[in-house]
Amino acid sequence: MKEIETLLKELTLEEKVALVSGHNFMFTNPVSRLNIPSIRMSDGPHGLRIQGNDEIGGAVGTEPATAFPAACTSSATWNPLLVEKMGNAMADEAKFYGVNIILGPGVNIKRNPLCGRNFEYFSEDPFLAGRFGAAEVKGIQEKGVGVSVKHYAANNLENYRLMGDSIIDERALREIYLKQFEYIVKAAKPETLMCSYNKINGVYSSENEWLLTKVLRNDWGFNGLVMSDWGTTHDRILGVKSGLDLEMPGDTDVCRKMLFDAVNDGYFPIEYLDKSVKNVLTLVKKHEDDKVLEKIDWDDHHELAKEIALEGAVLSKNDGILPLKQEENYLVIGELFDKTRYQGAGSSLIEPSELVSPKDAFDKAGVIYKYIKGYKVNEFIPNEELINEAVNASKDYEKVVLFLGLTDYIETEGGDRENMSLPENQLALMDALLQENKKIVVVLNGGSPVELPFFDDISALLNMYLPGQNGGEATYELLFGLANPSGRYAETWPLKYTDVPFNEDYSKTKQEVYKESIYVGYRYYISKGKVVRFPFGYGLSYTTFEYKNFKVTEKGDELLVKVDVTNTGKLAGNEVVQIYVSSPRNNTHKPLRELKGFTKVNLKPNETKTIEVSVSKDDLKYYSVSKHTFVLEDGEYSIEVGKNSRDIILTQNLVLKGERVDEKEQDVYQDLAFEDLSNECYEDAWDVKIPELEPTRPFTMETRFIDLKQSFFGKLVYNLLIKVGTKELKKAKKLKEGPERDNKIKGAMSVIKMMEASSFVTLSMTSGGRLQYNVAFGLKEISNGHLFRGLKHICTKIKAPKSPN
Ligand code: BGC
Repeated sequence: MKEIETLLKELTLEEKVALVSGHNFMFTNPVSRLNIPSIRMSDGPHGLRIQGNDEIGGAVGTEPATAFPAACTSSATWNPLLVEKMGNAMADEAKFYGVNIILGPGVNIKRNPLCGRNFEYFSEDPFLAGRFGAAEVKGIQEKGVGVSVKHYAANNLENYRLMGDSIIDERALREIYLKQFEYIVKAAKPETLMCSYNKINGVYSSENEWLLTKVLRNDWGFNGLVMSDWGTTHDRILGVKSGLDLEMPGDTDVCRKMLFDAVNDGYFPIEYLDKSVKNVLTLVKKHEDDKVLEKIDWDDHHELAKEIALEGAVLSKNDGILPLKQEENYLVIGELFDKTRYQGAGSSLIEPSELVSPKDAFDKAGVIYKYIKGYKVNEFIPNEELINEAVNASKDYEKVVLFLGLTDYIETEGGDRENMSLPENQLALMDALLQENKKIVVVLNGGSPVELPFFDDISALLNMYLPGQNGGEATYELLFGLANPSGRYAETWPLKYTDVPFNEDYSKTKQEVYKESIYVGYRYYISKGKVVRFPFGYGLSYTTFEYKNFKVTEKGDELLVKVDVTNTGKLAGNEVVQIYVSSPRNNTHKPLRELKGFTKVNLKPNETKTIEVSVSKDDLKYYSVSKHTFVLEDGEYSIEVGKNSRDIILTQNLVLKGERVDEKEQDVYQDLAFEDLSNECYEDAWDVKIPELEPTRPFTMETRFIDLKQSFFGKLVYNLLIKVGTKELKKAKKLKEGPERDNKIKGAMSVIKMMEASSFVTLSMTSGGRLQYNVAFGLKEISNGHLFRGLKHICTKIKAPKSPN
């Protein structure tokens, strides 16, 4: 490729317009006349979903790749080094398939446990999410493959992700929802970022100049490329002007025409377009000589997947029953033992290179057991026959290993869960088994917290989350003590959904008001003294640890924390040393404590190690909305080392010289119970505006498809649109039982979910040219009952400039 400045002079307007738009779902447009190649992308974020061109746009991976544990598991390792290694391995697989950019990591904050995509995100805490996100970026990029950190920003629900408006105060945005992006941009320099679908305070991220240029480029110094999430383009001109460089997946006549005409007719300065073209060309140039890797050590990657699963599993209860003994005979119940749920559903769905269920691992190890289904993963209603069979079998056993969990039918990208329960059939089975007074060891799968009404009555709980393709082996090793659990929760598990702040309002309309502000996850529960099931940072081990000699010293811009940790048990194990800070709250409200440092250490029995963690003073700053900047408040700080966010072991106070904060800010957060915090209070406290909700009729280009069912014509159009997924589902169900069938069903189901939550504008922008804007517009008109007007639009093709290739 020639120099970028030269190319900018030689490219025609048609070519420039083509360059800032994608092609064929996962590629950029080449310009062969000038030897500008195309680059290839692939989802992300926990393995590659090599996209095919089947009817549903390749929602299912078509080539084998290692399905690493999902982010919910990998973050529970509290060991970012493992995620860096995962990044290395994914990058190698990317090179094997000729992929230049991996679409990940996903670093959005887990604001509410029902978010259907929480499994794909790291944490409720921006400090932790930032460290893991940066580790994944580093791991991928140091092998020469690019990343796209997503979804920038405040994409914290699925039902309305495509058209919803996240109404957030400036402090919560800066401290919680942007903080991890800021850290990753500065520490790991990602090549690209992907903007989110949603609006923030009334403006789509894809055309939000404040977000894409002021904060990202001016404040943080980002100089890479911003791409759209798939189909999040609205006003393409506004997008380019605001800093959205590349429109994905592209192939949209309407956007090409919009840009071409705007520049050609002289009302949109070419300089804006050139800025984006330059960012695209820089990325293409960086990857023009990428070499294909001839061979992959698949076994090695499979082993790494196990290593992450082993460290990410959280032992959540143990009355001493675990580890199990190989020589005993066990009853194992629950179809998830055999049909293991090891990954989430949606755009991150991988065709695994190999798959080991817990059952495979038990068989390989020669465990003596009897297996009874107890329930079916693809059903919800209790199956009396299966339950009776399980209860009868249990009569001959003292101990039962019971596999429970969320299934793909409940948890997927594109939709939020309706409640925090496990499926009804699994709960009924549990109830029946508890009547028999058995000692029950629960092995749990799923991507996010569930209510555990039976928790007090069971003997042990091992949470494997979504442990990836080798999760079966990891489950076996942990249950039988070949490995010692060391995972810690990267999110709070509330006792019940009604404990979550503003739970009733979550994901119910196009408007999501973030009234809890910075009090997300543990910041809320510990500050307001609420009892939870598992606090942030919680997790057990088969051994015990003791802390001594805690010392904090101030060293320039850092605090150096030292503590001696001893393994006081009989088994080797990993401990996660967690450093929290409780900051002065003189005139500002702040959470009771926040995570500011952590490290994981391996210790043999009786071994002691001196752990050093450095805490940056920058991380102790809060965001002042009156000053519009981060401020270190003058005063006394408590530095704490804890087993988790609730269990603090040692503390040291330190007076830090910062700025005096005189004016009182947002007293309501100090004074009011959250239940009393009205929309008006929120608006007043933060100077935000909550607009009126738009009516659902007449249907607009942004109407959610599921809402089309409100009218006769709308319903007809809805059925037509949803057919893409229902047809695939029918086809998949005809396949032979096995992982391929399961994956195809999952893929089709998440397409249906995504379609329900989609809109005319997003579908047309995301369809890769299959549903051009005029057709989508026509369908919208028909849904409103304007049949002829609709047909006219459908037949009036958009005259877009010709694509150069
Ligand atoms: C998802 C992105 C993904 C993209 C491409 C979108 O629907 O939100 O995370 O990278 O599709 O598959």
